[in-house]
Amino acid sequence: MHGMHTVLEAIQAGASGDDIGALPIPESYRAAFVKRDDVGMFEGVASEDKDPTKSLHVDEVATPELAPDEVYLAVMASSINFNTVWTSIFEPLPTFGFLDRLGRESEWAKRHALPYHVVGSDASGVVLRVGSAVRNWKPGDKVTVHCNYVDDQDPSAHDDSMLAANQKIWGFETNFGGLADLAVVKANQLMPKPTHLTWEEAAVNALCNSTSYRMLVSDNGARMKQGDTVLVWGATGGIGAYAIQYVLNGGGTPIGVVSSPERAEILRSMGCEAVIDRAAEGYRFWSDEHTQDETEWRRFGKKIRSLVGDDPDIVFEHPGRSTMGASVFAVKRGGTVVTCAATSGYMVEFDNRHFWMKLKRLVSSHFANYAEAWAANRLIDQGRIHPVMSQVYPLTEVGAAARSVHRNEAEGKIGVLCLAPTEGLGVDDHHKREVVGEAALRRFRR
Ligand code: NAP
Repeated sequence: MHGMHTVLEAIQAGASGDDIGALPIPESYRAAFVKRDDVGMFEGVASEDKDPTKSLHVDEVATPELAPDEVYLAVMASSINFNTVWTSIFEPLPTFGFLDRLGRESEWAKRHALPYHVVGSDASGVVLRVGSAVRNWKPGDKVTVHCNYVDDQDPSAHDDSMLAANQKIWGFETNFGGLADLAVVKANQLMPKPTHLTWEEAAVNALCNSTSYRMLVSDNGARMKQGDTVLVWGATGGIGAYAIQYVLNGGGTPIGVVSSPERAEILRSMGCEAVIDRAAEGYRFWSDEHTQDETEWRRFGKKIRSLVGDDPDIVFEHPGRSTMGASVFAVKRGGTVVTCAATSGYMVEFDNRHFWMKLKRLVSSHFANYAEAWAANRLIDQGRIHPVMSQVYPLTEVGAAARSVHRNEAEGKIGVLCLAPTEGLGVDDHHKREVVGEAALRRFRR
């Protein structure tokens, strides 16, 4: 604790990179983690009642040794992603299995298989120390971190690195994640911090923004074109709120689906005119646990046509079981459903007749490779895509923050202050911030 306090003082005093690089690395640091011993704690509890405040602990953990291709990062801020919810409720699998598998890969990887898992797949902060093989970064650099964790000595990682045989998500399938005062990251996860943002605004983007970029914009995803209509589920949620921005920024027409008038209002303020409130419409795509209702799919399709005059070219899908049948039905003949998740259940079902007879495509997507994450980070730095942070929690309340995401109570992203003592710090380019405008940067703030 004391050691990281010295680091914070140096950062706040604007110490030089050399001075920051000379600071001693503390032997322990404050981190949010789940415990291996707790894995069975929610047995018999319904998924929605599993409470992350019971399983996420915040305490000191030992600082691991640094591998040659890694850096120690002083984490100023981080964010809650749904994967931290999954880890904290031990669903669909406890993440210790991932750590054990990683631990068998190499001498350095052994460090990860521990009785605790430090979680978190986003971070903004300052590089403290670089390993001997790191070339492009140095102590004092202000950075954001993307969570694609790949072994660059594996040949399968050298086309699209998301196709690497042992690709992992940092802070979910690896230890030493971002919800902590210090993190261990590979140098090839680093990106320059957007200069007009606060630490917490800079910390919330990488995971969700890069995911939405790959799903919609990249050649690896749905390859959205100017003029496309794109239906976005959960359009004010983490990935959905970036998706809406990509559609607008790329000259498309978004149709945003949300579940309350307040969320509908946020969408309109973003410039998304076609909005569906799924709660008000009362869709029942599943009439019982085993049966889907095609008349409800039709009602949904009709609603979309009434708003934009056509079927969507692309459906941005992630709720999974509850919506996939409707998504495949509603997408245009020849159109694309792109999916990266299954929040409501992963055993999905759709009517294959509508799928093949109308030559639709289903594209799977998962996070983003370094080039995609870099491009998405650059769009944030250019002020074309904005953070969608609604709330900020201190690290000590990380469990409550994760519970809020689990309960679908939060819009956009929740930022978490790690070393940053208060909100609002870390802006380097005040002029750019003024040009981009507080209205865009604070649109999701509660
Ligand atoms: P989030 O912030 O909680 O947003 C999810 C949104 O989905 C909610 O705002 C909600 O919107 C909507 N939703 C939830 N249940 C629904 C249902 N049954 N039917 C229709 N809509 C529903 O989460 P997120 O960060 O956007 O992540 C969404 C999912 O993507 C999660 O499962 C996450 O694990 C996954 N994900 C995957 C990757 C990847 O790389 N593969 C990356 C990021 C996220 P309304 O209630 O307003 O409709």
